[in-house]
Amino acid sequence: MRGKTLVTGGNGLVGSEFIGEHYYKPKSNEYDLTDKDNTDELFSKNFDGVIHCAAKVGGVGANMKYKGDFFYQNITMNTNVIESAKNHGVKNLVAFLSTCVFPDDTTYPLTEKKIHLGPPHFSNDAYAYAKRMVDIQIRAYREQYGLNYKSVIPTNIYGLNDNYNIENGHVIPSLIHKCFLARETKSNFVIWGSGKPLREFIFSEDVAVLSKWVLENYDEDEPIILSTSEEVSIKTVVDIIVDLMNYKGNVVWDETKPDGQFRKPSDNTKIKSYLPNFIFTSLYDGLKKTIEFFENNYTILRK
Ligand code: NDP
Repeated sequence: MRGKTLVTGGNGLVGSEFIGEHYYKPKSNEYDLTDKDNTDELFSKNFDGVIHCAAKVGGVGANMKYKGDFFYQNITMNTNVIESAKNHGVKNLVAFLSTCVFPDDTTYPLTEKKIHLGPPHFSNDAYAYAKRMVDIQIRAYREQYGLNYKSVIPTNIYGLNDNYNIENGHVIPSLIHKCFLARETKSNFVIWGSGKPLREFIFSEDVAVLSKWVLENYDEDEPIILSTSEEVSIKTVVDIIVDLMNYKGNVVWDETKPDGQFRKPSDNTKIKSYLPNFIFTSLYDGLKKTIEFFENNYTILRK
């Protein structure tokens, strides 16, 4: 498959945004990337480049409940993909880290240099350590084999093909689904915490555009943070969702439930220095597209 780029996890939130004939996007039931032989079989098709999105991903609940799965599946998938890519002559590869791999006790804003400077938060330590090893493996392969492999660190991603499961999903898809159920059943929209914590969200389409750019143009040992560096409160997110979903009931903040960390801002200086004119999708526009998709595909989406 010369001339083609392999997108692992090509049907997920980020992977589904790579659209076109030149992308090859097999599903996990065709090639299980935790299996070395399966991974080698896939790479024997010979790709020009690889965008490695596949991962076991989830919110805090899932990360705490299934630590063994999160560790084993992520570390085997990443190790297999990067090793197989090298063995099959792939010259360019980009893999995904996440801002939740950063140390719990750190200084803000987060920068690319701080990933390994202390243990991650206990709630997602299994996922975080497995993901941190992507950075180690990539640096090692660059040094030993001279390959143009690199990694990106996106902040919280949201978008169309998300996992809308209320228990196991991330904050935005869970809020959209909860608001929808509250509207449909004419009940209160109950949200954990005070709504005051600040977070940075990036639209999945923007992540795809930027990681494609990284695959083609970026060639540094150090990962690169993909972030708007604009903080918004959970309350602001909820206000936009309520407005866009036309929810007229009560919004109830359950302050007996934990808020989590107040803020964890990241520094997007590096990506901005490469792409000073890049315009990120606004949260309002991204949520509008996401909610339209959610409402039109409710019966078939992941939830
Ligand atoms: P999704 O959960 O939406 O998609 C993950 C994909 O991985 C799925 O399409 C799934 O394929 C595939 N996959 C899982 N297990 C296997 C396996 N054993 N073999 C082959 N494929 C497998 O994830 P996102 O799009 O949200 O995330 C993309 C990347 O970005 C991940 O690496 C994630 O860690 C990272 N990231 C995500 C953030 C977020 O907020 N979502 C934030 C920061 C980083 P299938 O559907 O066919 O089973």
